[in-house]
Amino acid sequence: MKLRVLGKYSPFPRAGGACPGYWVRTEKTGVLLECGPGVLSRFQQYEHLGAISVVILSHLHADHSSDFLSLRYATESARRYPALPAHLTVYAPEQPVDVRETLKFKDKVTVETISSGKDIRIGDLTITFFEVEHPFQCYAMRIDDGRTVLAYSGDTRPCDALICAARGAHLFLCESSCLERDASFAATGHLTARQAAEVAREAGVQKLLLTHIWPFYSEAELLAEASEVFAPVAIAEEGTEYEV
Ligand SMILES: [Zn+2]
Repeated sequence: MKLRVLGKYSPFPRAGGACPGYWVRTEKTGVLLECGPGVLSRFQQYEHLGAISVVILSHLHADHSSDFLSLRYATESARRYPALPAHLTVYAPEQPVDVRETLKFKDKVTVETISSGKDIRIGDLTITFFEVEHPFQCYAMRIDDGRTVLAYSGDTRPCDALICAARGAHLFLCESSCLERDASFAATGHLTARQAAEVAREAGVQKLLLTHIWPFYSEAELLAEASEVFAPVAIAEEGTEYEV
């Protein structure tokens, strides 16, 4: 399984960057995980939009989902330009209902609900969800291709569900919104780099990849903070494809 980081910044992108978006693929299957601002532009540096048929949104904050609203329009152009998706299935939490309603688009988009304990199967991928702790209903997840497991945190503060999601993963893609000096902000529903590393250690993952980066932070500082607790750890690089 491969993971291409399309965007990693939050809550808005750095110049030339993008908000969260990850293209997870095997030889048979591709799934777009998160669809924040800048993700569609970045995606097309690697693939046609028509490669997207399934999108998973961990939660419905705009920095994780707003490009999906434009992606819906691509379905209408598919008759004129076949390398576009004619139909999309989006998996998203039930709440908040008013935001979820905005994902709908004629008969071109099917909106499915994710919930804890309800695995979904997409091609050769099995995806399991774990409700985590964030102001909007949000899910961490494990993506398993039968050989390797990618765990992804979504947005969350430290919680047991996150450790369950990450348990023994080959690669743990984890939000690290804050440095410890800003831990009071993280308490509202995010992780510091140190806390991300503590979860990685507790869950016994093989590698930790930090994402969901505030654009004005020094990445060296984030990395140093996490490295004190767990290795190997790296900061996600936009455009890089990682082998899970
Ligand atoms: Zn969020």
